[in-house]
Amino acid sequence: MGLFVIMDKKYVGRFAPSPSGQLHFGSLVTAVASYLDAKSNHGTWLLRMEDIDEPRCISGVDKDILCTLEKHGLFWDGDVIYQSQQHQRYQEVVDRLLQQGLAYYCTCTRKQIKAMGGVYNGHCRHLGLDPDSNNQDQFAIRLTMTRPLQAFEDVIMGNVTPIESEAPYDSPHQEASTSNSSAEDVVIKRRDDLFSYNLVVILDDVFQGVNHVIRGCDLLDVTPLQKAVYQTLGYEIPTYGHIPVAAVSPGRKLSKQNRAAPVNNTTPKENLVRVMQFLGFDFPAASSFNDISALLAHAIAIWDRKKVVKTPEIIVPQHESTYYSEPL
Ligand code: GLU
Ligand code: ZN
Repeated sequence: MGLFVIMDKKYVGRFAPSPSGQLHFGSLVTAVASYLDAKSNHGTWLLRMEDIDEPRCISGVDKDILCTLEKHGLFWDGDVIYQSQQHQRYQEVVDRLLQQGLAYYCTCTRKQIKAMGGVYNGHCRHLGLDPDSNNQDQFAIRLTMTRPLQAFEDVIMGNVTPIESEAPYDSPHQEASTSNSSAEDVVIKRRDDLFSYNLVVILDDVFQGVNHVIRGCDLLDVTPLQKAVYQTLGYEIPTYGHIPVAAVSPGRKLSKQNRAAPVNNTTPKENLVRVMQFLGFDFPAASSFNDISALLAHAIAIWDRKKVVKTPEIIVPQHESTYYSEPL
């Protein structure tokens, strides 16, 4: 009798920090959650430096981030990729989309879009605009979206519904229903020549074979749009899980601008225990583990998406140096 084994595709996850500042508690939470979800599924865990927005990146911070991860026993698989070194690959995709008529040039200014009611209405879709070398800085490139924003099942947060906005396009084939209309044509390359985050995050995840994305809830709202981009480009959509973000006050996530303290590399076990507690797990004291790898092994063993707190944001106490760089 033949034995048939249905093989799940191997899990590939990642952590994708932006090297605009050292890791703080909130980014350590994302690193740990994505690591544990990957390792508890016998997956690989890749690392990508999201330094596409080069003006905001600080040189040397990438090395700091890698060092912090290592100090916490969070060893990644394979080589680290840097977005700043991938421009050629991004440009090839953009050129191909332009050639295929799936992307187009747009000259609409912020002011014009505001006058459209705040949502770009497809104004330049069929104008066939073409820049010359003198006026390139007035043109953004947009992707012709063919898919709507849709609700989805997040493996941690549960059902997520897209934020309502006016249907950007009038379609003669559709009735008044907004649910079937396509998403706003997303900018894939900005007028200042930067590739946009919503393009490169997808191109890189596809390039690296990532099929599971565990990241902070600050990116929950943009996920329906990213899913629509995947579909428009014809790529297979990864599984998404979003974890709570650490915040200073409602709507303000812990960040360098909000005085987030860099992770203290001299107390890795204590930091990891705090991360687990923040995520909602009962976790033994740091002193009960001989070393970091024993602690992480326990964390992998008890990791359970269902146990993660379902609150998009958790306010962290202002008097604790784990979170803030100086007392108020
Ligand atoms: N680089 C992004 C950030 O630091 C994360 C992007 C993602 O995980 O998709 O917020
Ligand atoms: Zn336009």
